Amino acid sequence: MALIMDGNATAKAVQEKLALDVEKLKPTGKRPGLAVVLVGEDPASKVYVGRKKKACDTLGYYSEEYKLPADTKEEDLLSLIRTLNAKPEVHGILVQFPLPNGLNQQKVIETIDPKKDVDGMHPASLGKLVAGLPGLRSCTPAGVMVMLDHYKIPVAGKNVVVIGRSIMVGKPMALLLLEANATVTVCHSKTQNIGDVIKQADIVVAAIGKPKFVKGEWVKEGAVVVDVGINRTPEGKLVGDVDYEAIAPKASAITPVPGGVGPMTIALLMKNTFQAFQQQTGL
Ligand code: NAP
Repeated sequence: MALIMDGNATAKAVQEKLALDVEKLKPTGKRPGLAVVLVGEDPASKVYVGRKKKACDTLGYYSEEYKLPADTKEEDLLSLIRTLNAKPEVHGILVQFPLPNGLNQQKVIETIDPKKDVDGMHPASLGKLVAGLPGLRSCTPAGVMVMLDHYKIPVAGKNVVVIGRSIMVGKPMALLLLEANATVTVCHSKTQNIGDVIKQADIVVAAIGKPKFVKGEWVKEGAVVVDVGINRTPEGKLVGDVDYEAIAPKASAITPVPGGVGPMTIALLMKNTFQAFQQQTGL
């Protein structure tokens, strides 16, 4: 049976280290600040925003929360972001995606000051990732890297198959793995014989958004499987992008859903906010 990589425990370890760093700031009277913006009523997004606010409170960060109606005009959202860009007490800005129809996600990302881009999706942040320069990395893939490191899973020289090529997860994931010297293959909806490709992997990272997409027979014996997917079944159960029951008995390590990558995303958002704070204050 596979080692179960516990995202809650790993995220707690990241946040405990951050708490010590925040403690050291006390004499300065300064603390990291995060603004979270939610547009609309998406129930899952509301839960994520609530968790982000709670993480700020636990760590003693300053936080601001904006809940805007679904019919918010794009210019009003962009204007709020410009206001947050100018606020010295806000070091990080997170706009919760997906946005309601009619709002241009890319425009929103590009309006955020790259220094405050704690979600790592601004072209400036992505450019630094491609160039191998230090910068703010997208929280979910960065969380996967911390998780692999926490469980001492070697990445260098391994065959890694990333399924999904989104700007938020798949692409930055592939680049972070490449930076860590993995041999990376990226699969997507046009990939042919995807099962055969996945079978070559020492490490599989699934970020597709399709419940139980990765089948047991596609995964080689002893592979490490990281499931980024969060899907809700018609019965209301949360499941990942891999068939956990079929894969866990043959994998050497696997992340559960829930309780795997999800908590890491929030921990890395807190880490990125701290990094942005340090960069902006010099502390
Ligand atoms: P996305 O933007 O919809 O991208 C999905 C990717 O999967 C695309 O690149 C798509 O390929 C690929 N894909 C779709 N169908 C496929 C198929 N039949 N075969 C192979 N590839 C296929 O989704 P995302 O934002 O990356 O999110 C992926 C999943 O991760 C979702 O379940 C989301 O909820 C979850 N997620 C979790 C966290 C977390 O904190 N745990 C954070 C973010 C996202 P094409 O490019 O060819 O269309």
